[in-house]
Amino acid sequence: MDIADQIKTIQEELKRLDVALVAVSKTKTPEEILTAYHAGQRAFGENMVQELVAKYDVLPKDIEWHLIGHLQSNKVKYVAPFITLIHSVDSLKLLKEINKQAQKYNRTIGCLLQVHIATEDTKFGLDHVELIELLRSTEFAQLTHIRIKGLMGIATNTPNQKEIKEEFHELKSLFDGIKVSFFKDDAHFDTLSMGMSADYKLAIEQGSTMVRLGSTIFGNR
Ligand SMILES: *Cc1c(COP(=O)(O)O)cnc(C)c1O
Repeated sequence: MDIADQIKTIQEELKRLDVALVAVSKTKTPEEILTAYHAGQRAFGENMVQELVAKYDVLPKDIEWHLIGHLQSNKVKYVAPFITLIHSVDSLKLLKEINKQAQKYNRTIGCLLQVHIATEDTKFGLDHVELIELLRSTEFAQLTHIRIKGLMGIATNTPNQKEIKEEFHELKSLFDGIKVSFFKDDAHFDTLSMGMSADYKLAIEQGSTMVRLGSTIFGNR
């Protein structure tokens, strides 16, 4: 199937399940992204700031850009004017910088807190204790230009389905607990970003509300 057919098929499948799709377009050309755009896709995810900004410059302005890769504080300023959702917030320091830059542009930037759920230690993210410390801190309470929309996690890259399932289950339980404890009256806290091409079906079974699919849509990188 080509990109247009593939994206339409997946959009239909996810719509039935009420799961949002972020089309991960890293390493793909603006032309490939436009093919998906013309098939109706609007949310695209990139993991490198420079590549993201270059694509933002040349592509239609009604695209919703998602940053899904690790973000350094000194690069926040490049995406602050236009980014829709940053999936990879993993420290208070980064959150403070996002808040500062958002304020400069008179925006409120949507953020997900990335939680470390994989057994590999190469994956970024907060552990449970760090997450709760951040949410309880007085500094966090003072940030007025960020909106925490939920959590994000990346499962271990393994063929072991049981392990992946347990990691997603753990993240969903954490999401539910954090919602009750910290965001009870906040309807904006509704996003659980988990699942990539290899594991999105498992992620949806475990309660994902947003999947990030690259190779399933655009082919192998
Ligand atoms: C690359 C990437 C994806 C998409 O990966 P695929 O296996 O191509 O679907 C999803 N999430 C993150 C954080 C990524 O870096």
